[in-house]
Amino acid sequence: MAHELPALPYDYAALEPVIDAQTMKLHHDMHHGAYVKNLNAALEKHPNLSSKSAEDLIRDLTSVPEDIRSAVRNNGGGHVNHTMFWKIMKPKGGGDPAGPVADVIKKSFGNFNDFKTKFNDAGTKQFGSGWVWLAGKPGGEVQIISTPNQDNPISQGLFPIFGNDVWEHAYYLKYNNRRPEYLAAWWNVVNWEEINHRYETFKSGKLEPALAAR
Ligand code: MN
Repeated sequence: MAHELPALPYDYAALEPVIDAQTMKLHHDMHHGAYVKNLNAALEKHPNLSSKSAEDLIRDLTSVPEDIRSAVRNNGGGHVNHTMFWKIMKPKGGGDPAGPVADVIKKSFGNFNDFKTKFNDAGTKQFGSGWVWLAGKPGGEVQIISTPNQDNPISQGLFPIFGNDVWEHAYYLKYNNRRPEYLAAWWNVVNWEEINHRYETFKSGKLEPALAAR
């Protein structure tokens, strides 16, 4: 079964004014759409991989045949990353986190404001395209990391609790080159319920929430 582009769980304009409708349409339909299309095209050369989830593919890239490894890394990563991204945002989101993820943020970073500052700083400093993450370590601790391109923490044995996209395609139409402004505003559309769900999944020892599209 081919990988599929999941529908946005809200309208293109639903995250206005933080993220404009045109950015959402281009980002979802064209950018995420291209990752899915290119992932499927790469896998056509190796039909034995067709039953694997995109997450399983990027979890162990060394097991992916060399002729499609870069394509799977970039496009499989792009598919996994964006499938998460749409779900961890929502209209009228934001505010202070509650629940277990609020507790682990307080325990690990002191308070939510200090956490946000460190997260935004890591996102600002990621040179070129990439992502900034709160990632879970095998021992249960959490850390802020950034990754280049469409790399996902899964490929380093870490759990992607949530991440923000710092590719220019995520913010350039509205924020131009002002990435820190986008990073600061983004917290107003964060979906803490979904992030708590992902954190609980991490704490329960499961590898990763299944892709909704599969
Ligand atoms: Mn993106």
